[in-house]
Amino acid sequence: MDNCIFCKIVEKQIPATILYEDDELMAFNDINPAAPVHFLIIPKKHLSSLADAKAEDAVLLGKMLELAPKLAAQQGCAYTEHADGSKSGGFKTVVNTGPNGGQIVYHLHMHVIGGTKL
Ligand code: C5P
Repeated sequence: MDNCIFCKIVEKQIPATILYEDDELMAFNDINPAAPVHFLIIPKKHLSSLADAKAEDAVLLGKMLELAPKLAAQQGCAYTEHADGSKSGGFKTVVNTGPNGGQIVYHLHMHVIGGTKL
């Protein structure tokens, strides 16, 4: 979509530190990180927000959620359940929607934030 900064990242018209890319998804580091690990997972298809997602997008949304722990682990934020029942690591996932949700960029994206205790 014209004038969408994340569509321009998808089209490689503006730079980003890309962590992952396939036919449907892209993940790149947030340029203004809120924690030691902070990246965004986006669909390549332009959806303005989570509120624009339709039933036909359910598989795509599921792929975004499935990718989050894999990339988080690659970035050093694996969530682990230990044999003794204790837990370590982990990360936060956030999807801001609309002005009251703090959304600034109107191309659906999932923040994945970690690397410290949040
Ligand atoms: O508030 P919202 O969920 O819309 O957050 C948009 C995010 O996109 C911000 O964290 C901002 O730092 C990030 N961003 C980016 N690269 C850009 C423009 C914005 O990582 N070129």
